[in-house]
Amino acid sequence: NLTTEEVTNAKKVRKLVKIPSLSESIPDNIQYLLIGGGTASFSAFRAIKSADPTARVLVISAEGYLPHMRPPLSKELWYGDDTEMAKSLNFHQWNGTTRSLFYEPEPFYTPVEELTTAKNGGISLARGWKVESINVSKKKVKLNDGKEISYDKCLIATGSVPKTLKLYDDANEELKNKFSVFRSISDFEDLWEQLGHIKSIAIIGGGFLGSELAASLANKGKKNGVKIYQIFKEKGNMGKVLPKYLSHWTTEKVRNEGVEVVTETEVENCTLENNKRRVNLKLSNGENISVDHVIMAVGAKPNTELATDAGLEIDSKLDGYLVNSELQARTDLYIAGDCACFYDKQLGRRRVEHHDHAVISGRLAGENMAGAAKPYQHQPMFWSDIGPSVGYEAIGIVDSSLVTLGVFAKGNHKDPSLLANETDQNTLQNKETNEELVSKNSESISENDYNKGVVFYLKNDVIVGIVLWNLFNRMSIARQVLKSDRCYKDLNEVAKLFNIHGD
Ligand code: FAD
Ligand code: NAD
Ligand code: NAD
Repeated sequence: NLTTEEVTNAKKVRKLVKIPSLSESIPDNIQYLLIGGGTASFSAFRAIKSADPTARVLVISAEGYLPHMRPPLSKELWYGDDTEMAKSLNFHQWNGTTRSLFYEPEPFYTPVEELTTAKNGGISLARGWKVESINVSKKKVKLNDGKEISYDKCLIATGSVPKTLKLYDDANEELKNKFSVFRSISDFEDLWEQLGHIKSIAIIGGGFLGSELAASLANKGKKNGVKIYQIFKEKGNMGKVLPKYLSHWTTEKVRNEGVEVVTETEVENCTLENNKRRVNLKLSNGENISVDHVIMAVGAKPNTELATDAGLEIDSKLDGYLVNSELQARTDLYIAGDCACFYDKQLGRRRVEHHDHAVISGRLAGENMAGAAKPYQHQPMFWSDIGPSVGYEAIGIVDSSLVTLGVFAKGNHKDPSLLANETDQNTLQNKETNEELVSKNSESISENDYNKGVVFYLKNDVIVGIVLWNLFNRMSIARQVLKSDRCYKDLNEVAKLFNIHGD
């Protein structure tokens, strides 16, 4: 009989594949060294390889998996009926095509032992290995077993790590085992397995991860009668991003998916019940919830462990490695993805924790490592799908504390003559400040009114962000609007550019 701690450790050991098993197979010096095996790193590799076709690129990744994308882990992978497909980490995209989570299959990578001699260079992956420290002036890194590798150019793309709750940090191992975070393939596999034999899950957090996962798990758990709770501080789902009315509307959709959403509430305490099977959560609204498992979706922290030793600066407000517009922290040292705090020439200093930013910043860092000196100027987008009826894409700064103006298609326009004739009468406008909802129509909004539309986010009357709500294939228009002088007299006119009644 193993203790719970032993079981957890055994799981960790089973999952951490280390290839190559000995670090002596890893080159002692390399042209391009990429720290982290995520999206930003892989995108940098692609850019380096197209600028420098015989480049030798070594990726050191602490994860035991090939480079892959994370978005389907909280969405698409939960929706198919085919268990084998989910286990093989393939999923159906929105357009019906099947895709793998992995960017490239194993044979794409040059074996680490052959990288130095391969005629045309290539990319090698040392997985399950961690960079412990960087010596920036000597241009060297040290791995977790002490091995040193020197580089010509280096990228730090170490991403972010899930935050945990204090009540979890303070708990004993037995109680800790009832909690998990959700970021990696192994987190997905563990949760998939658990869902087969548990009856209730509480998700703490109302942001991207909590909201997507709550809808996905409720759908998946329907057949087995698994109850999903979602508990968070905000008034509605995505309350930090969406204007109040839209957040409220989204919460109703999440409830319709079968999730019991508990808003404006925090978990104050947790205890293991006498049968040791369930956790009791004491909530700030006075209620108690008893569940088999708890998922913490309470934000992520940029992974900047390497900063202190290397003497790299961390942004005191936004966190993350401080870099310039060219994504450079020091000579020959670049940062991209979630962990970069960069200077956006248009919108000021930022840090972005989304997929497309990892792609775009990784690409820019890669181009600059290979000799270009380009500034950050292509705005990344992001998207989220919360269950089957809420999908949106966004660009720029989208923060619900800003003034917003939303224009929505009113009702369901089934009559084609109405679709062709987009007028102000067919749109519903909502202006919201952080204080109040300034709209005469707010009381009479029917359930359908927020199905489709566009929301502008304003700072000093200038557009700084745009949400395209259930409205696709218009990102280039949004990018264009954000790129121009952005101070528009009539936002309704701008909204017309998006043809919100069209498909
Ligand atoms: P990561 O993907 O986190 O990769 C960092 C890598 O570095 C990891 O492999 C890590 O193990 C490795 N590493 C860290 N430290 C070291 C070290 N010292 N040595 C070696 N390796 C190290 N964004 C969207 O826009 N849309 C979505 O729908 C969406 N869905 C998401 C769903 C989930 C479940 C999650 C978790 C995120 C989602 N995101 C989404 C966010 C997006 O996935 C991230 O912004 C993106 O993965 C960031 O890429 P990255 O390369 O910066 O970091
Ligand atoms: P988030 O920042 O979107 O949301 C965090 C949530 O946790 C908020 O509801 C917040 O109020 C709550 N919270 C924070 N501290 C808390 C505390 N001490 N107690 C209780 N609640 C607390 O982060 P997330 O949803 O956890 O997502 C994790 C990471 O994954 C982020 O980087 C996110 O951008 C990324 N992600 C992105 C997408 C997407 O872009 N579609 C999807 C999933 C995950
Ligand atoms: P996509 O599959 O073309 O790309 C998604 C993101 O992944 C992009 O940001 C892209 O930069 C990146 N990406 C694509 N291939 C990559 C690769 N091989 N390596 C690294 N990164 C790669 O999807 P999209 O058209 O941009 O749509 C994004 C999301 O929007 C979809 O996942 C879907 O949820 C939603 N969407 C829905 C509809 C709809 O009609 N319901 C339409 C369009 C998009």
